[in-house]
Amino acid sequence: MQYDVIVIGSGPGGYVAAIRCAQLGLKTACIEKYPTLGGTCLNVGCIPSKALLDSSEHYHNAAHTFATHGIKLKDLKVDMPQMINRKNEVVAQTTGGITYLFKKNKVTSYQGLGSFVDKNTIKIKKADGSEETITGKNVIVATGSKPSSLPFIPVDKKRIITSTEALNLTEIPKHLILIGGGVIGLELGSVYARLGAKVSVIEFMDSIIPTMDKQLGKELQKSLSKIGMEFYLGHKVTGASVKGKEVTVNFDSPKGEKLELKGDYCLVAVGRVAYTDGLGLENIGIKVEDRGKKITVDSHLETIVKGVYAIGDVITGAMLAHKAEDEGTFVAETIAGQKPHINYNLIPGVVYTWPEVASVGYTEEQLKEKGVKYKTGSFPFKASGRARASMDTDGFVKVLADTTTDEILGMHMIGPRAADMIAEGVVAMEYRASAEDISRMSHAHPTYTEAIREACLAATANRAIHI
Ligand code: FAD
Ligand code: NAD
Repeated sequence: MQYDVIVIGSGPGGYVAAIRCAQLGLKTACIEKYPTLGGTCLNVGCIPSKALLDSSEHYHNAAHTFATHGIKLKDLKVDMPQMINRKNEVVAQTTGGITYLFKKNKVTSYQGLGSFVDKNTIKIKKADGSEETITGKNVIVATGSKPSSLPFIPVDKKRIITSTEALNLTEIPKHLILIGGGVIGLELGSVYARLGAKVSVIEFMDSIIPTMDKQLGKELQKSLSKIGMEFYLGHKVTGASVKGKEVTVNFDSPKGEKLELKGDYCLVAVGRVAYTDGLGLENIGIKVEDRGKKITVDSHLETIVKGVYAIGDVITGAMLAHKAEDEGTFVAETIAGQKPHINYNLIPGVVYTWPEVASVGYTEEQLKEKGVKYKTGSFPFKASGRARASMDTDGFVKVLADTTTDEILGMHMIGPRAADMIAEGVVAMEYRASAEDISRMSHAHPTYTEAIREACLAATANRAIHI
């Protein structure tokens, strides 16, 4: 079969690229090695983790806040198999949705491992061992990433696990030890902490979520400590071992003391690496960077081989589903002769703990490093009527604006529904709004979004009304 475009990988990068190519009239095929479409995000990432975060949040609220709301419950219990079943149903519905969208848009779907024979020819090795070859004028590599590990940590996927296994546990751990206080560790750690597990986080850097604005990490640590999570910051893991059902993790304190923790599960969440195994990149002369195996692309997301593009986790940049999606659209439109654009500085980052954490634009640390003069405006959720009504008063919104022009340069928030609210920051910054612009726009009362307006008022000559 001859196609205009062959996409390898059906994650949020690949499936969006395939659908957009088909919408633009290009004859498109998508190859996926797993039986279901949707990649890491839909199968073992964003969607299942959010399903478990929602379930565990319901349980936590029922156990800890319902009584204050005047709701009494008897015999509250977690039904772990049912929680996992519901998560699996959400995944099945969502991956099935991509199958439907491929049919609707006339994207031809192939199941098997795709590899380059030459730059226009892709061999598909199927599960039954048979092979098929297809050709394409353009190829988009969207093969994503896999969990990274540490050479001295034996991940057995039973007791020392990655995020994939952590989404399928059949029991609530008694003591879950997390290596890495980044996004995966904190999201999945909070799932099990809410369900009653003791959760210990060992993080190499001196704060959790260390790449986000520093104030967010500090505030999140306070909130997660309230649900019983404990933190060893600036500590270095040196080894781990399993004996029966017990895991021992060894680590060094900042002063060099030798410490150890014993638990029943250890989740290794120290980042992800690009996935290019079995892709045959060597057959077309593409070398991957040794560290993280990322494929190098130019500003059109084209590799050194003309007509071969790469997008999503397999190339440089944030490993986020919406970044991969935007790149999928970008490449499809580029192939179709359009001139698309991605503003990488305005891709928001979100952590789906409770309170949620969300950021867009520059952090204070980045602005200081760049020597940009900026002013800040903050508003705490404890001063929000909406947040008091829902008992979600942890956190704040912080706006960073240029001292001279008042243009918003960064928005950082931790609090209820921050994941949804950050969209206002993205829109404001895409249109290069000033803090005063936002502070003069009506925000419905009572909503959490009023905190954004108040933070903008605070940045505009300390005009906040409610603090
Ligand atoms: P992937 O989604 O990894 O898809 C790549 C696909 O390519 C896979 O299906 C793979 O099987 C297939 N493939 C690989 N090689 C071949 C081959 N040779 N032939 C055929 N098929 C191949 N991001 C967010 O933005 N929000 C979140 O809330 C979020 N939560 C996450 C939670 C967890 C637990 C994890 C692990 C990740 C999460 N992410 C989240 C990150 C997000 O999942 C990734 O950034 C995103 O999936 C990257 O998309 P992609 O298309 O580049 O690759
Ligand atoms: P991460 O980069 O977010 O966090 C890894 C953490 O591990 C870092 O804080 C790092 O300092 C720490 N670390 C590294 N080596 C260590 C060591 N030896 N000992 C102790 N700590 C160590 O990576 P992740 O949490 O594994 O997530 C992987 C990717 O998946 C991220 O890039 C993220 O963007 C994506 N993801 C996104 C979401 C979301 O958008 N909500 C959710 C989950 C995953």
